[in-house]
Amino acid sequence: MLLCVCVYKCGLLKKVYRPKVCVTQAVEGSQEPQEIKTLGVGDYFGEKALISEDVRSANIIAEEDDTQCLVIDRDTFNQMVGTYQELQTYLREYVFQLALNDHDRRNARRKSLHHSMSRDNSEVNQLRELVSKFSSTSPFRYLDVITTLGTGGFGRVELVKLKDEDMTFALKCIKKKHIVDTHQQEHVYWEKNILQQINCSFIIRLYRTFRDAKYVYMLLEVCLGGELWSILRDTGPFEEGTARFCTGCVLEAFDYLHNRGIVYRDLKPENLLLDSEGYIKMVDFGFAKKIGPGKKTWTFCGTPEYVAPEIIMNRGHDFGADYWSLGILIYELLTGSPPFSGTDPIKIYNMVLKGIEKVDFPHRIGRRSEDVIRRLCRINPAERLGNRKNGISDIRKHKWFQGFNWEGLRNRKLLSPLKREIKGITDHSYFDNFLPESEEPPDELSGWDKNF
Ligand code: ATP
Ligand code: MG
Repeated sequence: MLLCVCVYKCGLLKKVYRPKVCVTQAVEGSQEPQEIKTLGVGDYFGEKALISEDVRSANIIAEEDDTQCLVIDRDTFNQMVGTYQELQTYLREYVFQLALNDHDRRNARRKSLHHSMSRDNSEVNQLRELVSKFSSTSPFRYLDVITTLGTGGFGRVELVKLKDEDMTFALKCIKKKHIVDTHQQEHVYWEKNILQQINCSFIIRLYRTFRDAKYVYMLLEVCLGGELWSILRDTGPFEEGTARFCTGCVLEAFDYLHNRGIVYRDLKPENLLLDSEGYIKMVDFGFAKKIGPGKKTWTFCGTPEYVAPEIIMNRGHDFGADYWSLGILIYELLTGSPPFSGTDPIKIYNMVLKGIEKVDFPHRIGRRSEDVIRRLCRINPAERLGNRKNGISDIRKHKWFQGFNWEGLRNRKLLSPLKREIKGITDHSYFDNFLPESEEPPDELSGWDKNF
């Protein structure tokens, strides 16, 4: 029986779950097999043997104990798939789906969703006024914790409800000791200072900050629609129209930020949340920085898959780095994974430096999508779409956006393809489940946070 085997397990799980498989081939005259390539989740081998009568030409060695493979025999293959190209599409999508189901089973995930209005500016100001009356050192006198929405090295983001009021928020609780140990005090202040000035419906609003002996806190507008990342993981690659809608929201956010001299530097589906209308809001301003027109900055930051080449090369970067990451985002939304990916950041950086020209696009990416991605991901930041003299309007005018209703998007009249039902102000079913905090962090009393 001839087999086609596909590496499968936890497709798009948080970047850590990407098992590798190594392909080796015995070279004539040498005893040692030579490594040909490394395969990751969704890659497959043995497929040619199903189509022709090819004999095995390589051995496959799992590099990690828990690597799992899905196997298809020729009969099943013939029944389910036709041509070789269809096989490629099929394997990618089917394996992607299986990986998701596997993850769902292990995490016993969600079922449904809710509704709440997007807040306009006057409501935002009223809320800011309301919470400004709270004592700055004890948020939990006013707030009940419902559940955890997200975690990270910094601490947790909790869903909180105002006591005696039907109103919920997200409370980002940041461990002060962790911030001091990782020298991120400046980033925490950037996040606070930038978010405090922001009034844009495509970016999360900050209502208030608090601080006590262990934590600094940010009281944020909550988005109960979940992360774009988990939707991508659960439903697979987006239709072009859905990817366009998401990109439109991100462009509006970039327009707002860049006009104010702010670079974002951490674009990725994990940092894009959905509100109750299915509109995107950008969160996580830990790497955002005000640089001002014509200025550059040099800090190495971002997420390997999304980092622009000039950041890797330490050449100084500016708004162009955000346009690069926008190209990467469109690619990931359309295919389910970014164009430069892997488990080893150094390998990713090497791929990034070779450029998008070296990347073959799968045929599910249409011609116009491919064109806009390639124009956003030019190695030279000055040549990138969005970063030339006409700025962001070059992106809006690109054929990929032909006929897109920008006014409808800005006025929030356009129906979002990602709108899902949210059952109430505490419905957190679109978020993963997190274990409770195992231990309290120590006090941190150096006072770096006194202006928080
Ligand atoms: P780290 O860099 O250590 O991973 P982080 O800086 O990425 O942490 P955030 O991105 O701000 O932290 O928050 C982590 C997660 O918490 C988000 O990906 C999201 O799932 C959830 N989250 C953050 N803010 C909100 C919000 N306003 N509403 C709902 N969920 C939120
Ligand atoms: Mg984040």
